[in-house]
Amino acid sequence: MTLKEIGKIKSRFTEKEDPFVMRKHESRIILNEEFTEGLYRLAENSYIRVIFGFHLSTGYSLKGPVYTGEIKGVFASRSPNRPSPIGTTTVKLIRVDKNELTVSGLDAIDGSPVYDIKPYSSVFDEIEAEPVKKEWNYTDPRSEMIRYVRSHDLKVCLLKAGSLHGHFCPGLSSGVYASVTGLNKIFQSPSDGMEKLLAITETNSCFADGIQAITGCTFGNNSLIYHDIGKTAVTFVVRGDDTGLRIRMKPDFHSILSEAYPEFSRLFTKVIKERAGTEEDRAAFKVKGREAAFGLLSIPFDSLFDAAEVKVEIPLYAPIFDNRVCSQCNEEFMGPKAVKTNSDILCRKCAGIGYPSLTGEGIITH
Ligand SMILES: [Zn+2]
Ligand SMILES: [Zn+2]
Repeated sequence: MTLKEIGKIKSRFTEKEDPFVMRKHESRIILNEEFTEGLYRLAENSYIRVIFGFHLSTGYSLKGPVYTGEIKGVFASRSPNRPSPIGTTTVKLIRVDKNELTVSGLDAIDGSPVYDIKPYSSVFDEIEAEPVKKEWNYTDPRSEMIRYVRSHDLKVCLLKAGSLHGHFCPGLSSGVYASVTGLNKIFQSPSDGMEKLLAITETNSCFADGIQAITGCTFGNNSLIYHDIGKTAVTFVVRGDDTGLRIRMKPDFHSILSEAYPEFSRLFTKVIKERAGTEEDRAAFKVKGREAAFGLLSIPFDSLFDAAEVKVEIPLYAPIFDNRVCSQCNEEFMGPKAVKTNSDILCRKCAGIGYPSLTGEGIITH
């Protein structure tokens, strides 16, 4: 058996780099012209598998450290230094232009010989692709979600959001829909990072969970801001830019929804509003809620939402406060929350003063 080199890879990387960095960039595969006809209908595939050579590889060890620092055998790793220095990577196919392919996600350096190209098949390859996704999750835990957002895969995004929210409902779904569309509007190129993103939500309903799941803006990382207004609206803005994109639900939203999913609306009134549902009603409500949640994603965005640019005042990065210890309960708390008496430093609770709480009603003071 002989391997035939069918083309070469053109990449900005001329030497070995962190594969996670390499995969963020586009590269090209230039096929030898004699093979051009073999690309017929390849463009119908969103993903392809590229088999290439690690042409700079020199020797190998049968066992050594991998990217996590663990020691693994060469065949249990993706190291370029292997007995047969062959790499395979599943990449996104962006464009086919005669004998040139533009792809993203390829971790091969400039000049690598290409031996084969195959369409990626979710049926045959999914099990193999799964661990690759897990690798990405180590270095960038949001990378998988960002890929779904980029590819506008609303259904998968909603599925993922369900794991945060606990059920599927049109509220969650509309938060997902607004976020996926909004992020794609403000991040025009795949190289735009989403690390500086802020989301300002004007409601703390199901809609807000759709925003958190998709954007990764949460209370914990201080990139979710809550405006206690009670409108189903969200503004996305990038730190360093005072123009944001505000997306709000149109007043027609509910009539469009109840027209498309009358059974859901009937059960919503009975089970949620009137709290008069039977056990069966509640079970049916769950099913109908899921139907409406997924169904809503195929209603045109513009008939459900309005999007407009707005000026935004961006809060500072979360300051890091020194902690204090309450002299009464001995618990640690953030310095600025201290209540000073003549002799003591107390937490708000021990001092018996009011503090705001975010509840289903919005922000209230205890
Ligand atoms: Zn919900
Ligand atoms: Zn205390």
